[in-house]
Amino acid sequence: MTNKKCSRCGRDFVRRVSRAGLPEALLRLFYVYPFKCQLCGHRFRSFQQSVYYSGAEEDRREYDRLEVKFPVTFSGEKVSGEGMLIIISMDGCSFATSAELEVGMIVKLQLHISGAVAPVTVDAAVVRNVQIGSVGVEFLRWQETERERLQHFIRGLLIGRGAESSLHP
Ligand SMILES: [Zn+2]
Repeated sequence: MTNKKCSRCGRDFVRRVSRAGLPEALLRLFYVYPFKCQLCGHRFRSFQQSVYYSGAEEDRREYDRLEVKFPVTFSGEKVSGEGMLIIISMDGCSFATSAELEVGMIVKLQLHISGAVAPVTVDAAVVRNVQIGSVGVEFLRWQETERERLQHFIRGLLIGRGAESSLHP
């Protein structure tokens, strides 16, 4: 996680991206890293003193998109509301809602994965696409603990579904 601001749009939804080719590898020796803005896609290099990123941190654990059905609530500057999740992955989700969300809006999400535990909070997600009755969002920023909670939950779903299909072939 980084607090850098995008040099084009000025927002701080910036993620470090993996280096490409030898020049980046050399720059890395001087703590210069490539970054990408998750909102506008702007790529830039920046100096980051005394931070060494390990290769493991660059790895993004990918999961299948899972069909789910549990409630989600969201709130942003102009809009708030609730919906029902349709698909979830570790990168984002889509949900059915009657609220009028627009592409580019940033919302805070609460994923109500279970009535027994607190909802998983995503501090910032950007609306990537809007269709009739449903929207797709990409997760931009959340606490590592929340990320781990969702990861655990998704793993449980995957294992549960594997067990179900072996019980009922
Ligand atoms: Zn930007």
